[in-house]
Amino acid sequence: MLRTPWAAVLAGLALAQLGTLITTVWLHRGLSHRAMTLTPGVTRVLRVALWMLTGIRPRQWVAVHRRHHAHTDVEGDPHSPVLLGFARVQFTNAVLYRRVARDEVTVRRYARDLPADGWDRALFDHALVGLAIGVVLLVLVFGLWLGLLAAAVHAVAYLMLNAAVNAVGHTWGSRPHENLATNSQWLALVTCGEGLHNNHHAAPTSARLALGRGEIDPGWWVVRLLVRAGWAEVRHDDERIRDRLAA
Ligand SMILES: [Zn+2]
Ligand SMILES: [Zn+2]
Repeated sequence: MLRTPWAAVLAGLALAQLGTLITTVWLHRGLSHRAMTLTPGVTRVLRVALWMLTGIRPRQWVAVHRRHHAHTDVEGDPHSPVLLGFARVQFTNAVLYRRVARDEVTVRRYARDLPADGWDRALFDHALVGLAIGVVLLVLVFGLWLGLLAAAVHAVAYLMLNAAVNAVGHTWGSRPHENLATNSQWLALVTCGEGLHNNHHAAPTSARLALGRGEIDPGWWVVRLLVRAGWAEVRHDDERIRDRLAA
């Protein structure tokens, strides 16, 4: 039952969702905007999981993302569809990301608060090692070819979903608040809330991305569960942010 192509595809999609969840909760709402904090124990688990799922170095992701907020859709934005065109951001986001992530001046300027530690130097800065461990685990579960299929589905889905936040999220959708980003509820449902990108640019320090009536932010449900378990603390009172936006 487990070693069927459908099971491998489903596992790949589930892992892409897990990677997207860790990206929005930890990298985005937590590290980039300090909208929430996580306990050291949970942080350690997420650090290992993100390394095996994506190979991303958190300080680089944070630097690229903060630069996007500092230069939204103008010169200096690492991945603006307004400047580069929709297709280039949607389909080559990883290339655009890498170029800026490897720029030490950008990382030093925008992620000064996240210097590399001994664990980074020994382990987590070696993206290929983390990704290889992830693939080996999938091969152990599914066998060689189905394990590689699950890894490929995960990689493509994760890259496309997270590129869509930058590409779709600055092209199509509604703009309830005055900024260049857009809200797309359908995208938010498959990106753990990130599709409510217009809301996010209006209130970047809110741990909750759903601000209007009827909006759904699945990432926020997870944040609330983490808070209830005593593993997270929301630093920014979104009620107050909503009041400010409504004023
Ligand atoms: Zn944006
Ligand atoms: Zn942001």
